[in-house]
Amino acid sequence: MTALIDQLKGIVGPGAWTTDPTELQPHLTEWRGLVFGKTPILVAPKSTGEVSDVVRACAAAGVAIVPQGGNTGLCAGAVPDDSGEQVLMSMTRLNRIRNVDPFNFSMAVEAGCVLADLQAAARAVDRYFPLSLGAEGSCQIGGNLATNAGGVNVIRYGTARALVLGLEVVLADGTVLNGMRSLRKDTAGYDLKQLFVGSEGTLGIITAATLRLFPGPGETATALLALSESGDAVRLLANLRASLADRIEAFELVSARIFDLVETYIPGAKLPFDETYPWYVLIETATGGDPELLENALTIAADEELILDAVIAKNTAEADKLWRLRHSIAEAERHDGTGLKHDISIPIGNMQDFLARGEALLARLMPEANLLVFGHIGDGNLHYNVTLPREMTPDAERAAGALITGAIYDLVAEMGGSFSAEHGVGLSKRSYLEKYRGGAEIDLMRRLKKALDPQNILNPGKVI
Ligand code: FAD
Ligand code: ZN
Repeated sequence: MTALIDQLKGIVGPGAWTTDPTELQPHLTEWRGLVFGKTPILVAPKSTGEVSDVVRACAAAGVAIVPQGGNTGLCAGAVPDDSGEQVLMSMTRLNRIRNVDPFNFSMAVEAGCVLADLQAAARAVDRYFPLSLGAEGSCQIGGNLATNAGGVNVIRYGTARALVLGLEVVLADGTVLNGMRSLRKDTAGYDLKQLFVGSEGTLGIITAATLRLFPGPGETATALLALSESGDAVRLLANLRASLADRIEAFELVSARIFDLVETYIPGAKLPFDETYPWYVLIETATGGDPELLENALTIAADEELILDAVIAKNTAEADKLWRLRHSIAEAERHDGTGLKHDISIPIGNMQDFLARGEALLARLMPEANLLVFGHIGDGNLHYNVTLPREMTPDAERAAGALITGAIYDLVAEMGGSFSAEHGVGLSKRSYLEKYRGGAEIDLMRRLKKALDPQNILNPGKVI
């Protein structure tokens, strides 16, 4: 290991590695501080060539590598294990925008670019990069692609997978796979880039990507809507998709209990209503140049008793305020120490049924636990979290957690859904992949992993 560490220091050069425990510390745990790892060295290569050299050296020594982007992932995928023998590779310095092509509506960027910087780079040439999520100020495009991130605009633009035209990847033996094409149509063989999207660093290290850009949505309108039942959100969505001519950019469901946490823990956060309602939907839509479009659509929805109340933002500042409420949820939940997190998806047609059955299920298993529900209901994706009573012992918490999570995932599976909609599998959901994607599916995943990484040195122990 000592010889390898010296070799790695030589490859990345001074200032691009650390073995200092204080500097390493924030890289050795994840966002919620639930998992802790160890590493002999963190290296931060600044070019694809350096990534390749690092991987080649590690492969020769049979030492594992854990790629780390912004370390905002929610499944502990970017944290090394506690053996102290896995090299941590930070992608942070690999952060150049290689080119922006407004006519091809594309940009070629390196993996370590921070998502918010890419949104700004697109805006600078009057284009739009729609991937948007709460962690956009620190997550990186490489991490977004490695987890196939979703976020708030999937309803109109798809997940990260749909936004990638080309990919550059360093394979487990150090080979650079240059697929930085910017084509919208390309049927020349297998679509290799999609193999790496969502593979969470287990099949290759993403070093660069060609991303799809869009014309901006133009004028948008944003509103917070109050609902009496969560199931109404499903009918409301269908109603508004029609009346807004499928221009909806975001459609987010939030329960009263969640917004209560936001108002409690986030300084200055305040809902714009005088009363408390059971459920809320935050909607953003392109207006197609008609400033009344959203208001008219909401009037129809109110006549059909799908909404109880609505506040339409009068300007960008008001819209930003509404979005800040939504984007503060993860932080508020962290302060609250919310127990069980479930990032699930359900076919929207089954959503109403799922919401009713899920509530009944929890009431039966543990009536004193609380459901905390919010998420991208427009995509059939809910963050379906549960807080356990505070007075439980750690052992009782673990047992209750296993029981409740297992029952929720079983219900999700029964309704045709997924136990992981947008956060990936990482370390924390490995056993569920085994359970719900067993048989031929996981068998093929294992064969792919073996074929691409026969030494098992790329983020071993994650996903499968
Ligand atoms: P990391 O956490 O560093 O890594 C994630 C995984 O990808 C790890 O397995 C890592 O090994 C691998 N990886 C990282 N970079 C590379 C690379 N270049 N090549 C190969 N593998 C790599 N997620 C959503 O999908 N939607 C949301 O709405 C959302 N909201 C969030 C809000 C908050 C406040 C927070 C903290 C997180 C949220 N997330 C959300 C989760 C997280 O932001 C995403 O998973 C994000 O895509 C992770 O990017 P990252 O750069 O931080 O990756
Ligand atoms: Zn989310």
